[in-house]
Amino acid sequence: MNPETKICTKCNVEKPLDEFSDRQHGKYNKNSVCKVCISELAKVKYVKNKGRYRANNRKWELANKAKRKVISDRYKNNNPEKVKASQANWRKKNLDHVRLLMSLWRKKNPERAREISAKWAKNNPGKRNARSSRYKATKKQATPLWSEIPLILELYELAASMRAEGVKVHVDHAIPLVHPLVCGLHCYDNLQILSAEDNLKKHNKYTP
Ligand SMILES: [Zn+2]
Repeated sequence: MNPETKICTKCNVEKPLDEFSDRQHGKYNKNSVCKVCISELAKVKYVKNKGRYRANNRKWELANKAKRKVISDRYKNNNPEKVKASQANWRKKNLDHVRLLMSLWRKKNPERAREISAKWAKNNPGKRNARSSRYKATKKQATPLWSEIPLILELYELAASMRAEGVKVHVDHAIPLVHPLVCGLHCYDNLQILSAEDNLKKHNKYTP
């Protein structure tokens, strides 16, 4: 007959058997480490290898695009609110990147872009005026040169791969893009990779 309890080899606490997962050939057919300790170990291991886990996930995703799509479509269908919130959060954190992608898309799809912004302006008359004056003021200098786009995208990719390795960095405008005194250019020379910490400290403080 099995006893009712067993001592965990990790935390050395005597616990009821059902606090250990089943394991064939283990003592009493149970794991030697309790469930709580196992999940702690898994957490530590995950944090330690976060970069590698992400890189491996990414590799798997690239090799299994169709499967990945089925999984993510199912998740999106089952969690529409969560998906919406996390997308909005990502956009907020990556505003520069979003602006860049949007300006690229607009250049590629001028007609569709006009349709969408006309529809938006019609539905948001108050916001339209504020946005159009701000847009006019910044657009000329803020839009990247075509020739620099591959370089800029490369910089963002580099930052993304650094983040995948666990290094917290942002792509930053050396001179802020929108600032009461200066208008930073969205050009390659003005972009730099900053540690996330430094970037938050800087937070649009610029003394010309
Ligand atoms: Zn334990």
